[in-house]
Amino acid sequence: MHRRLFLLSVLAAPMAQAEAFEFTLTEAEWRARLSDLAYRVLREEATERPNTSRLNNEKRPGTYHCKGCDLPVFSSAAKYDSGTGWPSFWEPLPDAVRTREDGGLIGSRTEVHCRRCGGHFGHVFKDGPPPTGLRYCINGIALQFVAV
Ligand SMILES: [Zn+2]
Repeated sequence: MHRRLFLLSVLAAPMAQAEAFEFTLTEAEWRARLSDLAYRVLREEATERPNTSRLNNEKRPGTYHCKGCDLPVFSSAAKYDSGTGWPSFWEPLPDAVRTREDGGLIGSRTEVHCRRCGGHFGHVFKDGPPPTGLRYCINGIALQFVAV
C-alpha cells in the first residue's frame, strides 16, 4: 500500500500540484457516496470490465453526469458505438473535463477526469469519428445518465 502510494505520488506530482478541485470530500465521504466499483474507478483510476456497463446500450437523448459530483459532462448527441465495450463519446460538454498525460510504463495515454471533483472517467484517444477525431473511452460506472 505504501509503495503504491509512493509510486503514484511520484508519477502524478507535477500535475497534481497544479490542480485543485472545486468539489472535494474526505475519503470516508467518497466511500459512503459511491459503490465499491464506482469508488475504485473515480477515486483510484481503476477500469471497469468491458461490456459490463448498461450505458453501452443507452440510446435515449439525455445527459451523462459525473457520478462523483453530478456535473453534466457528456451529451447523448456526442455518444457513439466504438465497439470497444465502453461508453464512448467524441467530445465532452464545454468546460466539463480536464485531461493529463499518464506517464505509465506501458506508454503514454491521456487520462480524462471531472473538472469539478477530479473523478477519473477514462482516457481519450485520437482514433475517434468526425468531427473531432477523438474517442473519449469512458467507464460507465463513473457516469449517471439523465434522460431528457
Ligand atoms: Zn465530478
